[in-house]
Amino acid sequence: MEGIVKIKDKEFVPYISEIDIQKRIVEVAAEVNRDYHGKSPLMIVVLNGAFMFAADLVRNLHIEPEIQFIRISTYGNSMSSSKDAQLLLGLEVDVEGRDIILIEDIVETGYTVGYFIDEVQKLAPSSIKLVSLLYKPEKFKGSYPPDYIGFEIPGAFVVGYGLDYAQQGRELRSIYQLKE
Ligand code: 5GP
Repeated sequence: MEGIVKIKDKEFVPYISEIDIQKRIVEVAAEVNRDYHGKSPLMIVVLNGAFMFAADLVRNLHIEPEIQFIRISTYGNSMSSSKDAQLLLGLEVDVEGRDIILIEDIVETGYTVGYFIDEVQKLAPSSIKLVSLLYKPEKFKGSYPPDYIGFEIPGAFVVGYGLDYAQQGRELRSIYQLKE
């Protein structure tokens, strides 16, 4: 893994390597393959951060998913979580009676995705599950912890592999943690 990465005013240290991410994604995909065998779930990718994880996850699936994208706004450019989530890019597909799998990059307080799950529940899907590459259990205050988790991590801010700091760092192949 590369060394320290500097983004704007902050330094980030290597945290989860590209190899470890890819290995874990194969394992998570195997769980999804097993649970959705013979089904065609609707996978909803939460932009922007989950784009890279979603691309690698779906390439390891042997089921026949449909894939849609949504955006929920929260953070702006800061590093603290916000309770006010807003659905920006709406869903353009009928979810009634469907098996929904939401794909997130990271769940911290859980408010962002919790808001969306509450909205989707009103549309009467058959089931709804959440996959998140990263999960910060110490910070979680929501109602829907992820059903499938790549890595449980402590509260520190991370970037890379789709996750940004002030819109930068998404292209990094590994995950980096903010240097204290
Ligand atoms: P929550 O609503 O669960 O507190 O926050 C989820 C959203 O906050 C994520 O989708 C992500 O955009 C952002 N977020 C939370 N923790 C981090 C982090 O450590 N790094 C980055 N880049 N974004 C984070």
